[in-house]
Amino acid sequence: MSYVNDVLQNLIAKNPGEAVFHQAATEVLESIAPVIEANPAYEKAGILERLTEPDRAILFRVPWVDDQGKVQVNKGYRVQFNNAIGPYKGGLRLHPSVNLGVIKFLGFEQIFKNSLTGLPIGGGKGGSDFDPKGKSDREVMAFCQSFMTELYKYVGADIDVPAGDIGVGAREIGFLYGQYKRITGLYEGVLTGKGLTYGGSLARKEATGYGLVYLMKEMLATKGESFEGKRVVISGSGNVAIYAAEKATAFGGKVVALCDSTGWIYDEAGVDLAAVKQIKEVERKRLREYKNYRPNAEYHEDGVIWDVPCDIALPCATQNELHLEHAETLIKNGVIAVGEGANMPSTPDAIHAFQKAGVLFAPAKAANAGGVATSALEMSQNSLRLSWTFEEVDQRLHGIMVGIFNQMAAAAEKYGHAGDYVVGANIAGFVKVADAMLAQGVV
Ligand code: NDP
Repeated sequence: MSYVNDVLQNLIAKNPGEAVFHQAATEVLESIAPVIEANPAYEKAGILERLTEPDRAILFRVPWVDDQGKVQVNKGYRVQFNNAIGPYKGGLRLHPSVNLGVIKFLGFEQIFKNSLTGLPIGGGKGGSDFDPKGKSDREVMAFCQSFMTELYKYVGADIDVPAGDIGVGAREIGFLYGQYKRITGLYEGVLTGKGLTYGGSLARKEATGYGLVYLMKEMLATKGESFEGKRVVISGSGNVAIYAAEKATAFGGKVVALCDSTGWIYDEAGVDLAAVKQIKEVERKRLREYKNYRPNAEYHEDGVIWDVPCDIALPCATQNELHLEHAETLIKNGVIAVGEGANMPSTPDAIHAFQKAGVLFAPAKAANAGGVATSALEMSQNSLRLSWTFEEVDQRLHGIMVGIFNQMAAAAEKYGHAGDYVVGANIAGFVKVADAMLAQGVV
């Protein structure tokens, strides 16, 4: 379609070197073409041009002092992409691979994901090329305080509410929150993923992984399948992976493999999650330590986790981690369902291969939306000055994930792509934002 193609060509020309942003925009825009064609008002109002250009991108220096007394400097980013349906909302990523293109791809995806949750939250994302690995707690605090000393000018409970992502967990959110409070004097829900003693929500830590499994359960049920007795392989061993593994196990699945950025474990008896939590959440160590807990398990630094035969694969580490050859191996080994816990973990040709082979495929913006949905529930609790029970939050999360599944299935069917959840999720997420933008005029 020429409007979609023109916008994409322009975007690629105007944003050179931002390959992952190009990839994310191409996937979304190409799959919403049927809606754009059916509604000429979107083109007239320049909806796609406006949606693909962030409201603003804030870039800043983050100076901090390391344990040797030397000054270090990192890059800081916050991209406020779109607030048509609510305050900007999206995590902060701390990883050496972070650059403007990565933050824009994540912020762009976040617009549609947040829309799918049915909650009033816009899209944003931020982060830094700072690497928390191997840093002392004091160094992480120094970095977080410096980062917030600039960021506080742009965020607020009704403006922009950041959260965690890769490299940002409870420790970092605590340091960021403390600094925000110190500078502004405000005790407000400006961040989510907070500790339970200062405004955090029960079940937020578990939400992305649990939500992923709730959505997969709905999708499997369309084929008369469930997690019961299935072999599950999950990449990553961070926040999303650990709690996806926990819920998949609770639903009767057997998680046989996990990885980190150095290697992967294979445990035919089913992964010992208490050991993984001890290694990753408490000691912040490498997964190679797992053999100290389970001597019969295997640990590898060669090969890839996707070579392990499984029924259900859940990529929960990082973007573009699952390529065509991995998809082909998974298909050959009989995978029946793939759910993206990470953001854009599968390359476009891998997704195509899964869909062509009839594998159930849940795209990230639907599959991992449980995290941001529960963050929005944390915002609600902060505004109400109340704390809901774990069961209450978990029940709402479950209802939201079922709602997301139903929305994406219905949208795919309405536009003639029944069972294509990539198209369904993109269309369902897009329509709500686009209609809000139309209603609010040219802004
Ligand atoms: P964490 O930092 O807690 O964990 C990331 C995990 O993935 C770690 O085990 C890390 O290994 C591993 N990893 C990172 N890069 C690679 C790689 N190149 N190869 C193999 N393993 C790798 O992050 P999260 O679990 O929070 O986030 C994971 C993904 O989920 C990201 O794409 C994030 O954007 C997405 N997401 C997270 C949400 C959340 O609520 N946390 C919400 C929605 C999406 P190591 O331990 O070696 O660093």
